[in-house]
Amino acid sequence: MAQNKEKNTVENNLFQHIISHAKEYGFVFPSSEIYEGLQGVYDYGQNGVELKNNLKMLWWKAMTQLNEDVVGIDAAIFMHPTTWKASGHVDSFNDPMIDNKDSKKRYRADVLIEEKAEEYAKAGNPEKKQALLDTLARLLEKEDLAGVQQLIIDENITCPLSGTKNWTEVRQFNLMFATQMGSVADESATIYLRPETAQGIFVNFLNVQKTSGRQIPFGIAQIGKAFRNEIVARQFIFRMREFEQMEMQFFVRPNTEMEWYEYWKEKRMKFHKAIGLPEEKLRWHIHEKLAHYANAAVDIEYEFPFGFKEMEGIHSRTDFDLKSHQEYSKNKQIYYDDEIKDRYIPYVVETSVGADRLFLAVLCNAYTETTGIDAKGEEKTRIFLKLHPAIAPYQVAIFPLLRKQGLPEKAREVFEMLRFDFRTLYEERGAIGKNYTRQDLIGTPFCITIDHQTLEDNTVTLRHRDTTEQQRIDINALHATIAPHTSWSNLLAKMK
Ligand code: ATP
Repeated sequence: MAQNKEKNTVENNLFQHIISHAKEYGFVFPSSEIYEGLQGVYDYGQNGVELKNNLKMLWWKAMTQLNEDVVGIDAAIFMHPTTWKASGHVDSFNDPMIDNKDSKKRYRADVLIEEKAEEYAKAGNPEKKQALLDTLARLLEKEDLAGVQQLIIDENITCPLSGTKNWTEVRQFNLMFATQMGSVADESATIYLRPETAQGIFVNFLNVQKTSGRQIPFGIAQIGKAFRNEIVARQFIFRMREFEQMEMQFFVRPNTEMEWYEYWKEKRMKFHKAIGLPEEKLRWHIHEKLAHYANAAVDIEYEFPFGFKEMEGIHSRTDFDLKSHQEYSKNKQIYYDDEIKDRYIPYVVETSVGADRLFLAVLCNAYTETTGIDAKGEEKTRIFLKLHPAIAPYQVAIFPLLRKQGLPEKAREVFEMLRFDFRTLYEERGAIGKNYTRQDLIGTPFCITIDHQTLEDNTVTLRHRDTTEQQRIDINALHATIAPHTSWSNLLAKMK
């Protein structure tokens, strides 16, 4: 028990360090921070946006360029309100919530109970944990909210803030953000900020199929913002109210969906390993209880500092969505399969990953602290981001040793030579050691220093981030030395 507590504290500290690091080095800022922020909303800074864009572009290439059968779209955030009736979000995209009357804090009722179950497991009583989770599942299945409230009372669950058991009843809370469209209140209709990007793909299925001439099986990929009014937005960018999804719907012939489901499971796992997430920090979580639209579902979980949590979902969604859109829109969503001379509503296998969760996993994995003895014999901690060189915000940083004697001019020459092929940064202020440290902190894999010897023999110092090793190298050899590490082609080849 004591050991567990210690482990949790170390992991929480680590997560706090990562959050502070993300802010201090321009990766992620709390939204509108000068007004004390907005809960569950974050902004990406100058380095964060580069890393996130790289991840998004890599996903896009992996899905569309590596798969001849997948094309992309970019649908609007606003959609006809009936879309969300058809998808089931208006009626059932709910979480059960409960308020503590003393602290006025709102909680997800199911999460309070899950946390209690976790306490039983940590105290060495896994059977009690399972029994509690089973009871919760049964009550939720029956939508017995009074029963959920009673369970909270029976389990003696107290509010972490007030310490009391003064709870309200449990109510369902719809997670969609609603707004009005149109300038005149009477004429305006309630519309929603999309809670997932998938529906933009479903409603465009026939548009894409007809205009691209694609035959089934084929897929449509999309990256875009999604919005969920999460009851408790927490764990930094893990659970936000505004976030970004990267989704792909693969349309297949009925009864072939399980083959494709297996195919996409493997493909997606390869992606995560290729960008450098280690095998032991990735695992499958098979869903026992399936959503109303699915006949198979699995998550790829990553071990964040706060435990293994969902990063990506892969679902076999049957023909639920297209069928439902056909019913609500009265527009046929039928495909004529020339090969088997038959008509049907296609089945769908979906892969859905949060760009922000992927970003967080990559950041957590890259954050490295090492302790060593410095030149003065003192113990020193070195922090660096061990990002894959292909996705780091900058790949190369160039410094002249001095701001005079022709060194800046020479350094600029090298900069001009490399900047078109690598994300390159030029910096002539500051001491070299400090500059190296700064680049370590934002994950730049290669630093180049131009000194007096450069002017004589055309060689520079190339410093490697992970080992801190420095090598003397001819300027003309720089490109060929760096390129294999930063190459997207090499990375994409590993995902095939
Ligand atoms: P969770 O169970 O964590 O709420 P979910 O099962 O509702 O997630 P999906 O609806 O399957 O998530 O969405 C697909 C992906 O979108 C998730 O795997 C996750 O990466 C991302 N995602 C979902 N909700 C959020 C959120 N509030 N903030 C950031 N990313 C999210």
